[in-house]
Amino acid sequence: MEPILVMEQIQVMGVRGLPLIHAGDNIAALVCEKMSLQEGDILCVASTIYSKAKGYTKKLSAITATERAERLGKLNGEDPRFVQAVLDASDDIIMEHPFILSELAFGHIGVRAGVDQSNIEDGMVIFLPPDPMKSAAELRDEIKKVSGNDVGVIITDTCGRSFRRGQTGNAIGWSGFPAIRDFRGDTDLFGHVLKITEEAVVDEIAGFSNFVMGESNNGIPAVIFRNCGRWSGHDNLYFSKDEDITKRVLKKTAFE
Ligand code: GDP
Ligand code: MN
Ligand code: MN
Repeated sequence: MEPILVMEQIQVMGVRGLPLIHAGDNIAALVCEKMSLQEGDILCVASTIYSKAKGYTKKLSAITATERAERLGKLNGEDPRFVQAVLDASDDIIMEHPFILSELAFGHIGVRAGVDQSNIEDGMVIFLPPDPMKSAAELRDEIKKVSGNDVGVIITDTCGRSFRRGQTGNAIGWSGFPAIRDFRGDTDLFGHVLKITEEAVVDEIAGFSNFVMGESNNGIPAVIFRNCGRWSGHDNLYFSKDEDITKRVLKKTAFE
């Protein structure tokens, strides 16, 4: 593995003072007005504001629930129109109860397809961006145009996880660096060759950005990381269909 650039004094800065975001807002311009981004910085943006800016939102009153949404709404104690939004956002349903676990077209697996009802007006839902990799690349281009600097971008969402209580921030799209730092072929302190270890760096950074953002009324939907260094690896963060053993087992038992 190539030697990693030294990471000295990593700085983490929440972007304060951003307004409530609405359809049509330019997030790159708004962030650059508040903070001066430097070459090599990483900007984490909450999917919530990205989706609000792009209009990936819907009024519940404009949604008609299908029979399946009515049934799952009753089963899980949720508004069938909200359930319909979740079904519409899902490419595949892995589990229906006690909560809907969805696979999205871009590869992410998430509770209720990542559809949110918080940090938006009553009666509205926010969808995850349909192609977050493209979104991250576009944001990176716009930041380059506004600031002149190449800044890496991560679009984040708060996600639940298996096996442990508590939600953490995950990367759902990124641009400017590989998602995974690949340690395979590297040697440990005792000369053993690492055979398995791939570190999901984008999720680690997204996780810490989520800590700075908080979940409720902080009003900090963007976080800047400085001096994270560089790493080499690859972008295959999402398992392919035949790689994901947990999903296969879960789906089999959930629908038996
Ligand atoms: P998610 O994790 O992408 O679903 O987003 P959250 O709803 O958890 O919000 C993350 C952070 O962004 C929190 O600090 C929210 O208060 C903040 N936030 C959400 N929407 C807005 C907005 O429109 N404007 C500002 N300034 N902050 C927002
Ligand atoms: Mn969310
Ligand atoms: Mn969140």
